[in-house]
Amino acid sequence: MYSKSFVKWVVIALLAVMVLAACQPAAETPVVTDTELNLLCTPQEEWCQGMKQEFEAKYGITVNYVRMSSGEALARVNAEKDNPQFDIWWGGPIDSFISAKGSGLLEPYDSPNYANLVDPAKTKDADNQWVGIYMGSLGFATNTDWLAANPGVEAPTSWDDLLKPEFKGQIMVAHPSSSGTSYTALATILQIKGEEAGWEFLKQYAAQVSQFTKSGAAPAKFVGQGEAAVAIVFSHDTVNEIDNNKLPLKLTFPAEGTGYEIGGMGIMKGAKHMQAAKLWFDWALTAEAQALGPTYKAYQAPTVKGVTLSHPELMEVNLIDYDFQWAGTNKKAFVERFTNEIVSADNLKQ
Ligand code: PLP
Repeated sequence: MYSKSFVKWVVIALLAVMVLAACQPAAETPVVTDTELNLLCTPQEEWCQGMKQEFEAKYGITVNYVRMSSGEALARVNAEKDNPQFDIWWGGPIDSFISAKGSGLLEPYDSPNYANLVDPAKTKDADNQWVGIYMGSLGFATNTDWLAANPGVEAPTSWDDLLKPEFKGQIMVAHPSSSGTSYTALATILQIKGEEAGWEFLKQYAAQVSQFTKSGAAPAKFVGQGEAAVAIVFSHDTVNEIDNNKLPLKLTFPAEGTGYEIGGMGIMKGAKHMQAAKLWFDWALTAEAQALGPTYKAYQAPTVKGVTLSHPELMEVNLIDYDFQWAGTNKKAFVERFTNEIVSADNLKQ
């Protein structure tokens, strides 16, 4: 048996440990008094809606979101610079976030969850103004019914194939002024071919296009429905149309190399719900949040550790060493040049 004084000291020691534990700051749960979050959401509607609901259920904070393609979103945050209506911008290629950083629109944030990133050197801004939340490669989606009706014609496997006479008026892609997908294609072509030859190529390629769309993923759907033969889209968007919408599409990649996106996230400078924005930012960098993608038909590769890739093959293609800094810094000038000299942004297909 233990002596009474031994038991007394054990009880005192236990109480002391409990008091000390209770005094520790709750490092995992920052105090958030915001009850709302205004989210600018650039990925597909279904993923935006799903993430809104997941966040609301987890944290009890109402998320008001607007879905906008990258170029529209960038124009909007630039216009609202002095009175930002959004607290956080989630999704869309980081070229736009690099451009937004250059315009002084983003709030630096040192998230504890940067530690979760697989490749922080590549997927995080050195000044903590943006971070990568997914990655995806560009590819071609060709309508297989159209291929069957055109014997001898093969799905494109190089950028130059897009200029073949059989694809005249048969290509669909978004316009780089509204779409981050399309801007990634433009910047990829300039990087592969060099600027001078690249702009010449872009002129010829634009002449092959039947219609430019507003949103980046839309051409996969339109081509799957038979409106044209080939779409230039992110490969995960093609996977979505094949797997979920059963559209007759074949996915191919340019053998000489293709561009890819790092999907970005950044907090708006002057955000009215700064605590909630930081909470979303931290959450979006967890394995738990990034693993939700396929639930909402988003098949991009995650940027954090501990998430199984739904489609690893999409990133196992020949990727160019895409220069995100260069693409982001030149975005405004390149989009203006494309719009003024090649194809205007009027009458984009919705
Ligand atoms: N939707 C998905 C699934 C994407 O991967 C991306 C790119 O980040 C976008 C939308 C971006 O849309 P947009 O090209 O319309 O700017």
